[in-house]
Amino acid sequence: MIEHSFHTPIEYLKGVGPQRADIIKKELNIFTFGDLISYYPFRYIDRTRFYKINQLQPDLPSVQVIGRLLHVETVGQKRAKRLVAQFKDETGTMELVWFQGIRWLEKGLKVGAVYIIFGKPTLFKGLLSMTHPEMELYNPTAKKTGNPSLQPVYRSTEKLKQFSLDSKGIQRLQENLITWAIKKVEENIPEYILKKHHLLEKGAALLSIHFPSNQQDLQAAQKRLKFEELFFIQLKLLKNKLLQTQKFKGHLFDRVGASFNLFYKDRLPFPLTNAQKRVLKEIRHDTHTGAQMNRLLQGDVGSGKTVVALMTMLLAVDNGCQACMMAPTEILAQQHYNNLAELLKDLPVSLKLLTGSTPKKERLLMHQSLESGDLNILVGTHALIEDVVKFKNLGIVVIDEQHRFGVEQRAKLWRKNAIPPHMLVMTATPIPRTLAMTLYGDLDVSVIDELPAGRKPIKTLHLFENSRLRMFGFMREEIAKGRQVYIVYPLIKESEKLDLMHLEAGIEALIREFPLPDFRISVVHGKMTPKDKEFEMQRFIKGETQLMVATTVIEVGVNVPNATVMIIENAERFGLSQLHQLRGRVGRGGEQSFCILMSSKKLSKEGKLRLETMVRTNDGFEIAETDLKLRGPGDIAGTQQSGILDLKLADLSTDQTILLEARNLVINIFKNDPNLAAPQNLLLRKYLFKQNPGISWEKIS
Ligand code: ADP
Ligand code: MG
Repeated sequence: MIEHSFHTPIEYLKGVGPQRADIIKKELNIFTFGDLISYYPFRYIDRTRFYKINQLQPDLPSVQVIGRLLHVETVGQKRAKRLVAQFKDETGTMELVWFQGIRWLEKGLKVGAVYIIFGKPTLFKGLLSMTHPEMELYNPTAKKTGNPSLQPVYRSTEKLKQFSLDSKGIQRLQENLITWAIKKVEENIPEYILKKHHLLEKGAALLSIHFPSNQQDLQAAQKRLKFEELFFIQLKLLKNKLLQTQKFKGHLFDRVGASFNLFYKDRLPFPLTNAQKRVLKEIRHDTHTGAQMNRLLQGDVGSGKTVVALMTMLLAVDNGCQACMMAPTEILAQQHYNNLAELLKDLPVSLKLLTGSTPKKERLLMHQSLESGDLNILVGTHALIEDVVKFKNLGIVVIDEQHRFGVEQRAKLWRKNAIPPHMLVMTATPIPRTLAMTLYGDLDVSVIDELPAGRKPIKTLHLFENSRLRMFGFMREEIAKGRQVYIVYPLIKESEKLDLMHLEAGIEALIREFPLPDFRISVVHGKMTPKDKEFEMQRFIKGETQLMVATTVIEVGVNVPNATVMIIENAERFGLSQLHQLRGRVGRGGEQSFCILMSSKKLSKEGKLRLETMVRTNDGFEIAETDLKLRGPGDIAGTQQSGILDLKLADLSTDQTILLEARNLVINIFKNDPNLAAPQNLLLRKYLFKQNPGISWEKIS
């Protein structure tokens, strides 16, 4: 017999074969023995408890009942044909119904016998029933092992079920694999860690995750496997961090010079908040160490991240370096440029904007002045990353709204200079702590947790279509006070046409409602050229128009303090963080601002929760937590490259404790043994080496 390994193709497993293997590969992405063993149940059914028929209610999950099967008959014709049985215990009678496999069931079911049935109770025409229950002949002397108290449930698909690979079928395959697997599996966490953190060994954990004997057993297995997932991600991240700080030298910004001081004393139009001051201190500290700074700046919408970024860039300029600031969209880059230009007016600091639509001639001049060092600060889009853009001495890169940039792009920016520039990464909206630690675990984190003084919290309202006239009336009042209004429509790729129709219909209604010359409307949507968008934006920014109708292109960063009303159409179609981002476009001046969420009455449970959350709170961190719970990390941009998506068990919205435990452990390990040279850490060293054979270990000590 051939020696199997975890790389053995799945078709060689007993009970699989080439045909089923094909389906398993296609449907579940399971190719090898190793893939299958880490295909964990997604839930468990408690089979320790038996219900009586008179205890059943339609809102129970799947439950089991012991009773006698009476009277089985086929009723109905053709498509409506079904098998109906009466099932009885000492407390009552119920119906069991099957729509499929009728012939086979008719033959197999034993009328008069006692069964354990298992399924979800439903109420059909006032009668209690169960559709397609699992049936098992009751055998009071059967050994417990054949009937585990916690029955695993594996995700299956219709296709798989056609090949008898429903949850039960997958469980049978796991049975065929497990005895072999637990003998063969190699421990990947050093023993001293297992002991200290009370973790099961890997083999035991695998056995219990698939075949738990009780609740404690299952929890121990889950803890071990979750810990493992989070631990290795942290190991990789913190290893990278170590490499960055130890391998790369960073620019030393040890002077606070003319431009910083001039700006701070003469130009800064407001006192900094304490949070802004603290963050600046953290940045000053980092840029003093001689190592490269890699810092994530988190702060809620409107908390004033831009000015912190600007002052950091001025610090670079004062120390003979150049700075660049990168934004995800052209509108935003333009806006940053305008803001910075205004703030830097008359200061001896040169500033330029580079985007995809910068004319070639200008671009060439810019390249020259960058290479000669004449240009101090460059603001732009992705265009900044291109290889032709070379700096004389790039000292700091600020990345705004990081979630749209990948790790790779960050790395590309580092390579723009012999000494890699400091990195300041800013998020558009707060992200939950666990997600930050995983997505940006290799960065240090600063948080601006305070809004500038005098801000009035935005009032948020949820309205249905029948209140539209009321909404129009309200808009009119605000505009009469000299304020401006955003009206945002969803634009979702799959139904772009439909969305554009909504947008156009919306605009027509608005024009009827708000006629010229008293009202003027700007329109910005994704199908316009950057130049047209910019033109329309500028009209709104200058106050020439009172209404800005837009799709989500205005989502990030746009700053028009005079706008006090944000109306979001079809609000139920937006994600939470998007809604929060959009709401953050108002409330930027001293006036009371409002956000009105328009939705249809038909709301999904989640849609309702999203809107309720928005109405309840303005706190971006709280909203981010809810968002993570609702969507999972997979739908949150930026997660693709982070390994988060490979998490099979760990859940960043509920497993914060395990994550912290794992991260602190890794921090400690590296503190005592940065090269993982100690014999007890050999396993970890091996793991990292396998992940990244290119790393030269000597360099980090
Ligand atoms: P965000 O963190 O969302 O990027 P911005 O940097 O765009 O926020 O700042 C939002 C608004 O608050 C801007 O108009 C900015 O000028 C203003 N602002 C920033 N810091 C302060 C402060 N300390 N006091 C008053 N206003 C501030
Ligand atoms: Mg911003």
